[in-house]
Amino acid sequence: MDLYIVLGVQQGATESEIKRAYRRLARRFHPDINPGDQTAEARFRQILEAYETLIDPARRSRYDAGHPIGVDGAQPASGFEGFDFSTRGVDYSATFGDLFAEVLTERGARQPAPQRGADLHMEMQVTFEEALSGGRRVMTVTRRDHCRMCAGSGRTRTSAGSCHVCQGTGAVRSVRGHMIFSRSCGACSGTGQQRPRACEPCAGSGQETRSETVSVRIPPGVADGDRLRVPGKGNVGISGGPAGDLYATVKVGPHPVFRRDGDDLLMSVNVAVHEAGLGARVEIHTLDGTARLRIPPGTQSGQRFRLRGHGAPSTRNGQRGDLIVEVRIMLPRLLDERSKELLREFGKINVEPVRE
Ligand SMILES: [Zn+2]
Ligand SMILES: [Zn+2]
Repeated sequence: MDLYIVLGVQQGATESEIKRAYRRLARRFHPDINPGDQTAEARFRQILEAYETLIDPARRSRYDAGHPIGVDGAQPASGFEGFDFSTRGVDYSATFGDLFAEVLTERGARQPAPQRGADLHMEMQVTFEEALSGGRRVMTVTRRDHCRMCAGSGRTRTSAGSCHVCQGTGAVRSVRGHMIFSRSCGACSGTGQQRPRACEPCAGSGQETRSETVSVRIPPGVADGDRLRVPGKGNVGISGGPAGDLYATVKVGPHPVFRRDGDDLLMSVNVAVHEAGLGARVEIHTLDGTARLRIPPGTQSGQRFRLRGHGAPSTRNGQRGDLIVEVRIMLPRLLDERSKELLREFGKINVEPVRE
């Protein structure tokens, strides 16, 4: 048997040519790819023997010089029956660990690098009052999660039966002379079970799309446009990577009385002409109930008064902003003759121009 012919390379083939040829052949004849096929297995042993001899410079030169193959030259060059991988001082898995991994990859058992799941974004409508008081909101989220049929493994849970290579024993025995050697079966990694098939509902991806209810905490004082983060409720990660996060962008509804300006609340209060002119105490409705606001004499329309600590709670430190009250001077809807007379007199006394 010519090892170069077994691998299908030239006599002077380089190391990379030998590796390439081995990979190509291993993909065709590996027992894991051809379970139960004795011819393929025998062929693979020849391929492996040829590869291990030619890839080792010392053994290759001995072979090229016409010595029989084998670690110490004691083994005859023919008779691959009884050939055993593990008893020749060669670590079966280490010898071609990466090549073996590559063969498995070819079969669709690829394990991509762990990857974080994607973040998800939603809008959340809240009322003005809810934004101030805070609370919880249950939302329905459509997200990628582990497939429930296969618990995210991508493989069927039920065993597909005994391994064809080792007949379910998990070990492969080989005979050399009067000795029987046993090694762990490579086709089933010693489990004795056939590799499970891909999970059908998720097509082997281990993931499925489904709706889930998620409870989102609304912090008191949340403002329009704020983004609330729910950790781990984005899409599930790939290959054990962490899940993404869910972001809910808050949309705060309007209020008939109050407007928001950061943590401050704004409102306006109507004041009669004489109250603005002479001063008054007026009752206003704040978030915390009624309060009395002192209007000083000579208050102008548009003038603002600040009630400290009656605004919205801050999401940063929990302290409350201020309530800002803007005065609007209102004329009586209907002016009777007597009022008109008084206003004419008022105008005569107050000659100071109001327009610059
Ligand atoms: Zn599945
Ligand atoms: Zn097996």
